[in-house]
Amino acid sequence: MGHVVAEPFRIKSVEPVRKISAEARRAALEAAGYNTFLLRSEDVYIDLLTDSGTTAMSDRQWAGLLLGDEAYAGSRNFYHLEEAVRDVYGFRHVVPTHQGRGAENILSRILIEPGDFIPGNMYFTTTRLHQELNGGTFRDVIVDEAHDSQCDAPFKGNVDLGKLQALVDEVGADRIPYICLAVTVNLAGGQPVSMANLRDVKALAARHGIRVFFDATRCVENAYFIQKREEGYAGRTIAEILREMMSYADGCTMSGKKDCLVNIGGFLAMNDESLYVKACEWVVVFEGMPSYGGLAGRDMEAMAIGIRESVDQDTIAYRVEQVRYLGDRLIEAGVPVVRPIGGHAVFLDALRFLPHLSQDEFPAQALAARLYLDAGVRAMERGIISAGRDANGANRHPKLELVRLTIPRRVYTYAHMDVVADSVIRLYEDRASIPGLRFTYEPPVLRFFTSRFEPVPRG
Ligand SMILES: *Cc1c(COP(=O)(O)O)cnc(C)c1O
Repeated sequence: MGHVVAEPFRIKSVEPVRKISAEARRAALEAAGYNTFLLRSEDVYIDLLTDSGTTAMSDRQWAGLLLGDEAYAGSRNFYHLEEAVRDVYGFRHVVPTHQGRGAENILSRILIEPGDFIPGNMYFTTTRLHQELNGGTFRDVIVDEAHDSQCDAPFKGNVDLGKLQALVDEVGADRIPYICLAVTVNLAGGQPVSMANLRDVKALAARHGIRVFFDATRCVENAYFIQKREEGYAGRTIAEILREMMSYADGCTMSGKKDCLVNIGGFLAMNDESLYVKACEWVVVFEGMPSYGGLAGRDMEAMAIGIRESVDQDTIAYRVEQVRYLGDRLIEAGVPVVRPIGGHAVFLDALRFLPHLSQDEFPAQALAARLYLDAGVRAMERGIISAGRDANGANRHPKLELVRLTIPRRVYTYAHMDVVADSVIRLYEDRASIPGLRFTYEPPVLRFFTSRFEPVPRG
């Protein structure tokens, strides 16, 4: 099972949670139409729906909330945030935004013209949508291994340089305003990009005069994987690795709700002065003054402190190794999961878990529902329901039919991980008894949020 990296904190404030009775869980699941998105938080014992904004802040961050300077312009907390971004990431200019997608909106607006192409290492929902809203077309240039759940490669988030070069040859460098690189890649399962690959992408981009922007949402997790897996980095600090990573980018978008350890916030950062001026012209339209960008002064203070805490070796080691611990327990028990275990979540492979169900019986949705029933654990479906229907109205059948167990930062203990693992293992032993689901209500778009289901009776 490997060693346990114990909590690098002690607990001084607690939020009670409880596991409601089996009958109450059944009633809650039926009321939610077997959709975990529709459960009430109070009926959930261990909530692994997402790691976004679900972080526990430190005592220093909470203290920082009381230091909010809520001036309309020039808040001192903005300058703290700017200093933290300069020190930790190395970018000169910072535009705060309410969360990550606010930064994506501004970046897409100032750089993309209709007809442009934006290469990236696998899409992210909000990132791609903002590119498209500004007339751009996303092109996936991630390595093929990223799409294979059983391939145990160390850097499955890498860019395939051949695919990137082919796009440049096809459309021309002047139709590519920037390369958008996610570090780590959320939709590939939290898989990292190697430093060598970042360096190569930057070199290729520089040869063609193309900018590189990172989606830095999970960049500290990426730095940790480089430290653990890439030759030459074992002796370097997370802060040093992060600075080198960022040296290969012209700027980044950031969702502070992940690696910056806050419940709300984000920013857009860059080195180029003229781009910064343009970003400031748009931030006032969508977010607020360039010195608050949709955030309270106290939120910026908490994020500035969180940014500095995030590069602490013990903090990031605990975060990633706790996720690995859960994954290893399941792997040891023979439960099918996506390999290798990524930085923020463990993904159950529902097609292998429930081989008696066809994909049209929604195995991932069915498994997530049963997990709640068994242990009060809330997970998220990432499969046929999330993929939606194509233009002809037929269900898309994605290769990966997954249940995501996403671990919030600094919130749950190893004992909670054991509760989750024990339940998943129990369900795996009893898997033949898990029925498929069918729709009782299906909304036309983004159906995973609000659709409702019932079990398919066994014939
Ligand atoms: C969460 C996330 C975003 C969007 O950030 P929000 O703060 O939710 O708007 C963008 N990219 C990645 C990789 C993310 O995980």
